[in-house]
Amino acid sequence: MKTALFAWPAGHSLSPPMHNAAFSHLGIAATYEARGIPPRQLPAALAELRTGGWLGVNLSIPHKIAALAHLNEISPAAKAIGAVNTVQVHSGKLHGFNTDADGFYTGLTQLGDVQAGQLAVVLGAGGAARAVCYALLTRGIRVHVVNRTASTAEQLAAEFAPLGTITAGNIYAVEPEAVHIVVNTTAVGMHGGPAPTDLPLPHAVLAKLPRTALLSDLVYNPAITPFLAAANELGFTHTQNGLAMLLYQGALAFTYFTGQEAPVHVMKTALHAALGA
Ligand code: NAP
Repeated sequence: MKTALFAWPAGHSLSPPMHNAAFSHLGIAATYEARGIPPRQLPAALAELRTGGWLGVNLSIPHKIAALAHLNEISPAAKAIGAVNTVQVHSGKLHGFNTDADGFYTGLTQLGDVQAGQLAVVLGAGGAARAVCYALLTRGIRVHVVNRTASTAEQLAAEFAPLGTITAGNIYAVEPEAVHIVVNTTAVGMHGGPAPTDLPLPHAVLAKLPRTALLSDLVYNPAITPFLAAANELGFTHTQNGLAMLLYQGALAFTYFTGQEAPVHVMKTALHAALGA
């Protein structure tokens, strides 16, 4: 049986080693490969899944939104987020899910105490931010979204308002002392990205946050991003990079593909090996 990542360009993905290690560990006769699918070929590539031999696929940029129109069923979370990252093939039908949200949340709960009523600052308002905001709001966590393009954050807040307490605006609109969680969902700090050496929030604001705050950077290349390096220097102890989200979204996708519990430790080891860490 087959599974794959559909993306364009396919680039270098950590998903194949992660899933293939899990298949091999559980003795499942399946393979996972990264396929470069140009946008115009997405409908045909998804149609091929219905012809047999497929357990499902993951979708990455630029297919997460476009795929919505080609599926038989879409989970409530994927609908609300407006993006599908996992397609499960079931009796020739395609079911769309978003495992980014729950994957992120599982990773966050490994970092420390997460409770309803806490305040989270989400930096960024793109696709990843939508999954993160959904995950937090549906657990009763209050969210303040800060984005370079203010109008995108305002739109996100207006759209997600029915899910919980969400505001958008300036980072200075929140009292730093009241913040429990900060998530960088921007590409700032990413190797090869638009601002690889920058911080996604002002250093002075970071310095004022309680040292017990949970700081999550969705970027994982480099492993210690400028945000996490600054946090470590300031004495924060609850920090994590984007490998946690990558791992747990993959584990959930694996369960949708196979119906089996994912061997998370095996997938984690494979991820670290693939990164050369
Ligand atoms: P996206 O939809 O393109 O959104 C990009 C976000 O980054 C927007 O909020 C954008 O702000 C902001 N941004 C980009 N360049 C910036 C700059 N120079 N200064 C300030 N803000 C900037 O991308 P995405 O899919 O949400 O992905 C965002 C990041 O999350 C990427 O680094 C990606 O690798 C990471 N990610 C990680 C995982 C994981 O599993 N760990 C999963 C998904 C995504 P504007 O609105 O102003 O353009």
